[in-house]
Amino acid sequence: MREITGTGIGQGVAIGPVVRMAERLPEPADTASTLDPERESTRAGDALSAVAAELSRRGAMAGGAGKDVLEAQAMMAQDPSLVDLVDAKLAEGATAERAVFEAFASYRRRLTEMGGYLGERAADLDDVSQRVIAELMQVPAPGVPDPGHPFVLVAHDLAPADTALLDLDRVQALVTVEGGPTSHTAILARERSLVAVVGAADAARLVDGDTVVVDAARGLVIVSPSDEQLSGARARIEERAASAAAPSAPGALADGTPVPLLANLGSVDDAAEAVRLGAEGVGLFRTEFLFLGADVAPSVREQQVEYARLLAAFPGRKVVVRVLDAGADKPLAFVNDAPEANPALGLRGIRALRHAEAILRDQLTALAAAASETEAELQVMAPMIATVEETRYFVGLAKELGIDVAGVMVETPSAALIADRVLAAADFASIGTNDLTQYTMAADRLLGTVATLQDPWHPAVLRLISEVGAAGVALGRPVGICGEAAADPLLAVVLVGLGATSLSMSPSALADVRASLKRFGADDARALARAALSAEDAAAARAAAGSLAAEISARGGSGA
Ligand code: PEP
Ligand code: MG
Repeated sequence: MREITGTGIGQGVAIGPVVRMAERLPEPADTASTLDPERESTRAGDALSAVAAELSRRGAMAGGAGKDVLEAQAMMAQDPSLVDLVDAKLAEGATAERAVFEAFASYRRRLTEMGGYLGERAADLDDVSQRVIAELMQVPAPGVPDPGHPFVLVAHDLAPADTALLDLDRVQALVTVEGGPTSHTAILARERSLVAVVGAADAARLVDGDTVVVDAARGLVIVSPSDEQLSGARARIEERAASAAAPSAPGALADGTPVPLLANLGSVDDAAEAVRLGAEGVGLFRTEFLFLGADVAPSVREQQVEYARLLAAFPGRKVVVRVLDAGADKPLAFVNDAPEANPALGLRGIRALRHAEAILRDQLTALAAAASETEAELQVMAPMIATVEETRYFVGLAKELGIDVAGVMVETPSAALIADRVLAAADFASIGTNDLTQYTMAADRLLGTVATLQDPWHPAVLRLISEVGAAGVALGRPVGICGEAAADPLLAVVLVGLGATSLSMSPSALADVRASLKRFGADDARALARAALSAEDAAAARAAAGSLAAEISARGGSGA
């Protein structure tokens, strides 16, 4: 028995055999073929067709955005100019493997030189090239494996497209070597209620077939668990399934203080599941996930149809839609495709939208039109606000285009430090703790190497949140939390103690957070917040809140 530590995503537990994501293939040797060119040409042609057919098959199974990505890859494998390049290499006496490798590499160079959208598709070519070479070598293709039975996927990291396409009937849990708690792999895993441990450096040593317990609540992967550990894990899996299925009351503290519990969604298809899990509305709808694969801006009509579908799932409920957050970890070529050295500090979020104001206007127009068709209470908010002037710009435009309630995300230390002035110009604030932590701690949220710094328990982050909470109380404006921090059951109580009035999270986290809020009154929440705020670092803040929470429970529950 061995334990590997990492950052757990959510509170789930899973058991299964390890299947590793196949590694990249070595470069095929540049030696002359021993077969004649016709034979090699047949091999290459067969492999290209087989890969195209397989990609189309997977696309049809995936549906939605996944289908578009995979169909585009299938077309690449059949592109006549690529086939010509392969044939030219074969005519020089290359093996099919080498010819495919070189043809794809030179095709890739051409696309990269063209830049823009085509340049961005260049990386997809690598994936297709690897698949064709694997087919020729009769070895498993790199990428997400399909062993035909449930398994725990172990990977270095996953691209958002891979995570979005995972077959959840098969993948019981995900363990990655790289990735921080708020990387998009982690967010999509959470959104899809997938048990995950990321940034687990030692997972590189796991081998296919190892039985593991993946315990996200403790950030642990137990290799070859004992019988006792297995039965403990099974009991927790059953317990969580039972509590998720139980009817749920609205979120509230023990003294009855309401704390609406809302869902973070990235796809309209997940709305029904969120309602089933007790979401009282939507606190963050990430619109950019609808258009990740798109190369041109979606039309007003197209958007209106999607938004109306979303709003219809929440009649009479609050639905907060975030306008496109393009740039950095969520590139959208049709908004901004200029290369930047530090994209997280560049033209992202509201900054990118201002440069492409027609796109922002279309989106707000589509949202206002969708709202007029349905009963939901639509609110909109802008990401990456850093100044009062940006706040006024966004809120003014939203109102001009017919939206009644417009707020801002607090994701930069700047917006938090002047929250009183920012909130005075907006209807509400919603704190994006993922980016707020990234920018406060100066730690890239995508990098496993700095994952320990990306901890929203850090008192520096909590202090900024308390500034926003205090401004909200003073001005009587709602302050929600929509970053992953809201999904941590104890931190959720601390956030309420700091002034948060609603919490939005992946629906899979709702049951645990709802139960945790019920254990504390408003005074307890404030005491827990003070304990965490005065700690020296994230670990000490977590420990201080944890021991005070245990004391409160030992006293027989809430002090309220
Ligand atoms: C955040 O930054 O906390 C947030 C909710 O937005 P995203 O994770 O999509 O950047
Ligand atoms: Mg953000």
